[in-house]
Amino acid sequence: MTQKLVVIGAGMASGRALEHLIEAAPGAWNITLFNAEPRGNYNRIMLSPVLSGEKSYAEIVTHDDDWYARHGVTCRFGQTVERIDRDRKVVIGTTGEVPYDKLLVSTGSSPFIIPCPGHDLPGVIAYRDFDDTEAMIEASGRPGARAVVIGGGLLGLEAAAGLRLRGMEVTVLHLAGHLMERQLDAAAGYLLQKDLEKRGITVLTRASTKEIVGGDRVERVRLEDGTELPADLVVMAVGIRPAVQLAKEAGLAVGRGIHVDDQMITSDADILAVGECIEHRGAIFGLVAPLYDQAKVAAQTLVGEAAAFTPKQLSTKLKVTGVDLFSAGDFAEGEGREDIVYRDPARGIYKRLVIEDDRLIGAVMYGDTADGNWFFGLIKEGADVSEMRETLIFGPAYQGGPAQDPLAAVAALPADAEICGCNGVCKGRIVAAIEGGATTLGDVKAVTKASASCGTCTGLVEQVLAATLGDDFAMPTAQPICGCTELTHEDVRRLIKARGLKSQPAVWQELGWSKPNGCHVCRPAVNYYLLADWPLEYRDDPQSRFVNERKHANIQKDGTFSVVPRMWGGITTPQELRAIADAAEKYDVPTVKVTGGQRIDLLGVKGEDLPAIWGDLNAAGLVSGHAYSKGLRTVKTCVGTDHCRFGTQDSTGLGIKLEKRLWGSWTPHKVKLAVSGCPRNCAEATCKDVGIVCVDSGFEIGVGGAAGMDVKEVEPLVKVATEAEAIDWTVAFIQLFREHARYLDRPYKWLGKVGLPWVQDTLGDATTRAALVERFDLSQSVYQTDPWAERATPEARRAFAPLADLTMEAAE
Ligand SMILES: Cc1cc2nc3c(=O)[nH]c(=O)nc-3n(C[C@H](O)[C@H](O)[C@H](O)COP(=O)(O)OP(=O)(O)OC[C@H]3O[C@@H](n4cnc5c(N)ncnc54)[C@H](O)[C@@H]3O)c2cc1C
Ligand code: SF4
Repeated sequence: MTQKLVVIGAGMASGRALEHLIEAAPGAWNITLFNAEPRGNYNRIMLSPVLSGEKSYAEIVTHDDDWYARHGVTCRFGQTVERIDRDRKVVIGTTGEVPYDKLLVSTGSSPFIIPCPGHDLPGVIAYRDFDDTEAMIEASGRPGARAVVIGGGLLGLEAAAGLRLRGMEVTVLHLAGHLMERQLDAAAGYLLQKDLEKRGITVLTRASTKEIVGGDRVERVRLEDGTELPADLVVMAVGIRPAVQLAKEAGLAVGRGIHVDDQMITSDADILAVGECIEHRGAIFGLVAPLYDQAKVAAQTLVGEAAAFTPKQLSTKLKVTGVDLFSAGDFAEGEGREDIVYRDPARGIYKRLVIEDDRLIGAVMYGDTADGNWFFGLIKEGADVSEMRETLIFGPAYQGGPAQDPLAAVAALPADAEICGCNGVCKGRIVAAIEGGATTLGDVKAVTKASASCGTCTGLVEQVLAATLGDDFAMPTAQPICGCTELTHEDVRRLIKARGLKSQPAVWQELGWSKPNGCHVCRPAVNYYLLADWPLEYRDDPQSRFVNERKHANIQKDGTFSVVPRMWGGITTPQELRAIADAAEKYDVPTVKVTGGQRIDLLGVKGEDLPAIWGDLNAAGLVSGHAYSKGLRTVKTCVGTDHCRFGTQDSTGLGIKLEKRLWGSWTPHKVKLAVSGCPRNCAEATCKDVGIVCVDSGFEIGVGGAAGMDVKEVEPLVKVATEAEAIDWTVAFIQLFREHARYLDRPYKWLGKVGLPWVQDTLGDATTRAALVERFDLSQSVYQTDPWAERATPEARRAFAPLADLTMEAAE
């Protein structure tokens, strides 16, 4: 006797379940198939090729009218099931009710819509079904139409690529730091972004949508940072939620999805569920592979066969023609995990394998994914890969791969890439000199002047020599930054500029780093170089900083912190002193100490009290003294003409002006200044990074002093007549240091390498000096912010709740 099966939802999962069922028990079921969409089963994942114009709708239909007729399936397309009456065993649809013996719920997912103002304006759509696809195709038909796609995951990027192919101007907004962050690591995400940008798609990461603005229909999207993007169409592709409402109202057990057991049976023995609407052992699903397995198990359950669903590993591919990416398994970094990385910067290839306990557990590949399935097989099998460890990354066909070429990054530079910034010498000129007979660094210097000035490009010039001459050039051994690269600090600084690298993943990939995300040695350096060179484009990465800079306070040996408010030029007021005293009492600060830099240090503050004490001090007008930073520390001053009978100039006033101009700037290492009002030098200006000694006829500026492990007197940089010139020279000197020094070099060390004459020549040129000052001020427009004000919020308090033992972390 035939039984009545009602299926709710003609999606990918139910389509496959019906095929299995009809094959296993032809004619045994009287089937009614409801679908809210006005059509039957089609291959939803092929909507993207339909959008891009590579396929038609007819080509993606999986079950046509003839198939339903042949198998006796009664189709109720365009009819939504509104209720399930489990007592009477009927489903109630928009046009009446249908009884069932068994019910298969397969309602899929609903797209998540960000509930921001304007989300319901006409022109704002999701990307889920054929109607959405048609709406996008129609919108792209309007000349000059602009689309904003919110969400840089799989769906959003397929939508963006399709719309772009149809001629729309497309911007993708993505909240995370890189695209498809759930499937790709930062390096692969970077390459993907580069590929999409090459296609004319604008990608904004860390972009948070605040509002969608429009009258009758959408007109623009406004971001949290105030950016406005004109839009005729907004596609929201920010995630999906299992469609569980119907099941919930019917009283079935529902969590994030409809609860099912291994046989796909819900909490009601006569109701099964499959697809994205279910929750199985706490997991929900968003790709078709596991849904097909569920469909098979559901069919077997219905015909009384023993079967059980077990989730398997999944892999991801993006269906954008010409974009080759592959990801599978777990690629998070973790203790006991080892990475094997292969990069070919010239061809835009990146491969990373993650190994744990001699097994491959994750793979991310970009640019060349031919071996993806082989790696995926190894992951699924849990095979022991220790024997092929050395050659694994080269794939199944390769035994004994070649070593990475450390010269690849330089070899890939175009002829017009600038190598020597000081003398404006590009790679082409150096190569021409070498081809004209220059065989040593000295020859190249003599012919082109490359590396003849500040010398920071020396390593690069040598690499151009090596890349051009091959074995005829013996490369002098230079100290690389760390074990992740063969490149020196100077090489990396120069290449970051020459190749316009504006993110950490860009550096790792384009310069052929051997680790996926660098290490604790190179990351802080590269983070600094990027923020110094690209203040507007690059965002500082706190995770690439030492613990003191991350916490914005110096960690002490007992795990507490020190808090030092800024005292401009060493000047304070009774009100400020009172606020400091109040804070010291309120937070049980055990030690209050006057520092050598003329300010007050509150020592022994508990980590969890930091935001609150900062808030209190902030309220009294005090800001962070950055006593922990690789940046400006203090400007020490003497009392000068205001109070001292020897004073020749207003040394205190100049010190305050300098501190107000320079505070908040990040530098390769800490920087301390001092201004003394006369040569008696009460502010000890002659052992500072920059020390100014006022004299009757003006200001003597000295640089490169030190009074730490090394003790050094400043070298005279220049003597100027006016206060304005003194400020100008000081700012320009600091910027030159910021732009050229290697990370963790104090100014005196850097000066020892480049030489004072080069610094004097460079700063002596008024145009160069003005340009340096301008670049410094531009950087300050981004970075001159008070970290205390930003962190004295209730949310920050949670982040500063009691910590793990940080005393073993690298301090400064
Ligand atoms: C554009 C796009 C590209 C994708 N690309 C990939 C890919 O490359 N790889 C991959 O693995 N996955 C991809 N996916 C995901 C994949 O399509 C889904 O995992 C799969 O379609 C889910 O199948 P399902 O049967 O659970 O739900 P669906 O296919 O969504 O079907 C559910 C159906 O139920 C209907 N329905 C819901 N409620 C009711 C009701 N009350 N009454 C009647 N009918 C109802 C809906 O209208 C819908 O037609 C993509 C998805 C999209 C949208
Ligand atoms: S440095 Fe000169 S001006 Fe300044 S306090 Fe000392 S003696 Fe006075």
